[in-house]
Amino acid sequence: MVIACSDSRTDPSLILQCEPGEIFVVRNIANIVPPYEPDTMHHGVSSALEYAVKSLKVTNIIILGHSGCGGIKSLMGNKLAAEDEFITRWLSILDSVREKVLARFAMDGKEPCTEACSACEMEGIVHSMENLRSFPWVAEQVEKGNLHIFGWYFELKDGLLLGYNEDSDTFEPQHPSCLSSYN
Ligand SMILES: [Zn+2]
Repeated sequence: MVIACSDSRTDPSLILQCEPGEIFVVRNIANIVPPYEPDTMHHGVSSALEYAVKSLKVTNIIILGHSGCGGIKSLMGNKLAAEDEFITRWLSILDSVREKVLARFAMDGKEPCTEACSACEMEGIVHSMENLRSFPWVAEQVEKGNLHIFGWYFELKDGLLLGYNEDSDTFEPQHPSCLSSYN
């Protein structure tokens, strides 16, 4: 399963060099996984996740983020609040990440710098990985070793794919090979 951004430049099948039928894909603004919230609201990502884990029994879930993400730039600039109906609320899932990054990069009320946005893009991936584990049936399969969670970052400018290393807490270059190498 791949959870990617809706950005037209980040097609998971092209980036991962996959054939039709190889990956189950969910795309949304800023490739976010919401936390586990079993309430009466309508949860598109959570329902796709439930299908992938319980019915398809996927063995790998990849959160695929990317550089130059418009969603993350809006979140960092806090621009959309006045006029949009759904986007700000959706992006607010990453509010704690935004606050953390803002504390590290002085913005002086100006446009968010590229470095701050890149940091937010990457930490947003890590936050979504944590949210994934808040779903009890995801955590259970991870615990049993049946399911693996990955955080990947696609650098648009040079086509570089980075993978999150939990031990070093950094994103490191890796080969954009197909999922077969992770099975
Ligand atoms: Zn994006």
